[in-house]
Amino acid sequence: MRITIIGAGISGLSLAYAILQNLSNIELKIFEKASHAGGKIWTEKSEGYLTEASVNGFLNNKPETLDLAHSLSLNILRSNDNARKRFILSNNKLQLIPNNPKAFFVSNFLSFFGRLRVLSEYFIPKGKDDDESLESFALRRVGREFYEKLLDPMASGIYAGDPSKMSIKSCFSKVFDIEKKYGSLIKGFVSMGKEAKRSGKKISAGPSGVLHSFSDGMYSLIDSLKINLGERIVIDKGLKAVQKNSDTYELFFQDGTTYQTDILIFAIPADDASAVLMSFDKKISEILQTIPYPPVTVVAIGTDKNKIKSNTDAFGFLIPAKENRKILGTLFDSSIFPHRAPDGKLLMRTFMGGVRSPEFAMLDDQLLIKTVLSELKGILRIDGEPDFIRIFRWQKAIPQYLVGHNEKLKMLDNELMRYKGLYLTGNAYRGVSVNDCIANSFILAKKIASSIGT
Ligand SMILES: Cc1cc2nc3c(=O)[nH]c(=O)nc-3n(C[C@H](O)[C@H](O)[C@H](O)COP(=O)(O)OP(=O)(O)OC[C@H]3O[C@@H](n4cnc5c(N)ncnc54)[C@H](O)[C@@H]3O)c2cc1C
Repeated sequence: MRITIIGAGISGLSLAYAILQNLSNIELKIFEKASHAGGKIWTEKSEGYLTEASVNGFLNNKPETLDLAHSLSLNILRSNDNARKRFILSNNKLQLIPNNPKAFFVSNFLSFFGRLRVLSEYFIPKGKDDDESLESFALRRVGREFYEKLLDPMASGIYAGDPSKMSIKSCFSKVFDIEKKYGSLIKGFVSMGKEAKRSGKKISAGPSGVLHSFSDGMYSLIDSLKINLGERIVIDKGLKAVQKNSDTYELFFQDGTTYQTDILIFAIPADDASAVLMSFDKKISEILQTIPYPPVTVVAIGTDKNKIKSNTDAFGFLIPAKENRKILGTLFDSSIFPHRAPDGKLLMRTFMGGVRSPEFAMLDDQLLIKTVLSELKGILRIDGEPDFIRIFRWQKAIPQYLVGHNEKLKMLDNELMRYKGLYLTGNAYRGVSVNDCIANSFILAKKIASSIGT
């Protein structure tokens, strides 16, 4: 039995690993277009800095990444406690986000009327069962102030997305489900809190948990998977097209070679899969084409801590759209994890672009650096010039789950039923985080194993 995975990002690699845990006597290959495995995950070490090109870490609120890391004997690194402190830029000043409901209601984070509006959520009737945008959901339930100040920047922070187009059902499914089940979010949290007390379990609606990574950065996970999978990974091997023969799939690569397989799994971005599948199945290809990816550029900057007047002993800050800034937000990497910068220095990474302002992600290097420095100097009150700068560009950064995303998934599942042994996985469908990618790989590996068993 030949099983072939296209794409050696974390989805493809963790799927390959999970398949080997579930099945023996198979011929497994992973074909990767780029000259190294890892996809969006990449870590660089230079000049005493350890810099992530994209992924900062993963939360411990889902077991799969931790389980995978344990089974690969990796040294898991917990983020510092000060990383629980997060700021929002509000009227050009950094404001601490209260970290629990009580602190939120007694603080001046929102105006008195803004807080009253949030509390009135208790009495607002349940909406229809349909999907809607994050913006329309939030305005309906918690009001404009809470939405503009907290939810809009959160949407940028996680998805680099536009809340007026993002699906509440697919991007924040737990919140969507709480409204459906309890009629109100406040009622839901109160009931869930009581239930949590009774059962001793922690329950949360959002991305809770503590951020984790590895001492040598996120690429350690990829390195370990590479060692584990060995020569099954073939790099510099981009797939161009696919053809179905009677019982097998014939793969046509960009280098002119071909390969036959019984089971074929795409673990590549939706638009890449769309291009490959264009002549194979137009309908599937067209659905995949409707999942957009905005560009995001990450600008890493290292500087002396004593040149910064603001408090950077925290996770970082996000910026609401109404602040009209050219950057989306900044993470204080060396405050989040130890040994990311030389002693006395701060490593921070600023995110530009997204759906909000794709043009800023596309600036040339010089203009990009000038823009980021001028924004950071104003916000963090930095003196002098930085001594370390690195730029990481992601042309197609994060897939956008737009309103109706769930319907697209149903259509894709329906279409795929016509092709035995053909699967789609990766961050374009059921979760963009590394945790989601790995969790989905584990589920798919079991599904494939049971399909072979039957
Ligand atoms: C700036 C940024 C910051 C992020 N931060 C976080 C974070 O802190 N925490 C978190 O959990 N997640 C984060 N994410 C999301 C996370 O990085 C991704 O969701 C995840 O890494 C996606 O993995 P994947 O394997 O599904 O896709 P990818 O990593 O995109 O891998 C797909 C692979 O397929 C290959 N490929 C494409 N076409 C072909 C082809 N035709 N033939 C062969 N191979 C092909 C590509 O070269 C690539 O290697 C971030 C993403 C970005 C962009």
